[in-house]
Amino acid sequence: MALLVQKFGGTSVGSLDRIHRVAERVEETVRAGHQVLVVLSAMSGETDRLMRLAHEVTTRPDDRELDVLLSSGERVTIALLAMELRGRGVNARSFTGRQVGIVTNSSHTRARIEKIMASPVQQALAEGVVPVVAGFQGVNERSEVTTLGRGGSDLTAVALAASLKADRCVIFTDVDGVYTADPNIVPDARRIHKLSYEEMLELASLGAKVLQARSVEFAAKYGVPVEVKSSFQEGEGTLVTHEDADMERAVVSGVTGDRNQAKVTVIGVPDRPGIAADLFTAVAGASISVDMIIQNVSQGSLADISFTMPRSDIARALPLMEKAKDELGAQTIEVKDEIAKVSIVGVGMRSHSGVASRMFQTLSREGINIMMISTSEIKISCVLHEKDLNSAIRALHQEFGLGQPVDA
Ligand code: ADP
Ligand code: ASP
Ligand code: MG
Repeated sequence: MALLVQKFGGTSVGSLDRIHRVAERVEETVRAGHQVLVVLSAMSGETDRLMRLAHEVTTRPDDRELDVLLSSGERVTIALLAMELRGRGVNARSFTGRQVGIVTNSSHTRARIEKIMASPVQQALAEGVVPVVAGFQGVNERSEVTTLGRGGSDLTAVALAASLKADRCVIFTDVDGVYTADPNIVPDARRIHKLSYEEMLELASLGAKVLQARSVEFAAKYGVPVEVKSSFQEGEGTLVTHEDADMERAVVSGVTGDRNQAKVTVIGVPDRPGIAADLFTAVAGASISVDMIIQNVSQGSLADISFTMPRSDIARALPLMEKAKDELGAQTIEVKDEIAKVSIVGVGMRSHSGVASRMFQTLSREGINIMMISTSEIKISCVLHEKDLNSAIRALHQEFGLGQPVDA
């Protein structure tokens, strides 16, 4: 008998018919003698719909109230699935984030998990009950509802699997695993059988939304084996685990794109020590993560500082940056949001040279202009115009031979 955490994403619970299929799958696992804890997302499109409603009410909705609103989507699906399971004779019970004891900090809409009490679900499991847990939500120390960032149900599932020492965390979604590129963009993308936490973390952080980046970080920290599988068809998926000998050692294992980025340039910054520290301290204080920083000396003793950040953080960051700009005596701030980031990821890059030049040549052949570049040990990212993203992904996928079978 194994203890399994099964998480079903938005598409997998997008209609009553699909919830019915989830119930069948859970029932099958229970009847096979396993202990199961289920984590659910809201129905597909529901979190976006709630977000739009909030923005129709006011241009900058309050984050605390947003969390109250957004967390409502997951309450609907857990109640429906628990009802259906009970109707089938499976003893199931729904749990909100608060009832599970997921305690987070107070960074509304992007809260971090601080501890998990888990005893209510442990007790339920011991009684033979299937807990059906609302993903994406927790509570802070004052019992106010928080959410864990978009895609946060993956984190709920991994965190519960870690806390309960589950044998495996299975993420059921609308694709049958992690691919060499988003299969909806690259038709000949190939499923990867086994992937290291490190590569998956880079892929997820760089835009492959099949797993939320923070959930991968958590899985790596606690050594939770994560399997990504299709909720619509039977068969193997992708196992994300510690790096081992039978993993493919491709130089590049995946190509990914991120459209949720904006480029900010602070123009005419006095070029003296401490300026960058002051500017970035202002945004870091609001838990906004900044990436790909470039500084150019422009005219005389003035510099321009460009960096990227999530588009969704611009509204929060701008007032802070305007204030910092005035204090620093800089001239203007320019925001460009029709940009995107394309990245190649692979542990094989550690031992191969020339990968970056191949990437730049490929983009140049496609007539794509590179605005910014950043590298780490196992990834290279380029910022380009958003309109060029899909052709960049396809060209790089082909250049690095990712569509072909491994042993071809
Ligand atoms: P869920 O609602 O189940 O959480 P998501 O929409 O969050 O599902 O994630 C699944 C989607 O991730 C797929 O439909 C696919 O378009 C996208 N995706 C992006 N990159 C990849 C990749 N490398 N491999 C698989 N899917 C990917
Ligand atoms: N419903 C949330 C979202 O759409 C959480 C999730 O699906 O993982 O981001
Ligand atoms: Mg998701």
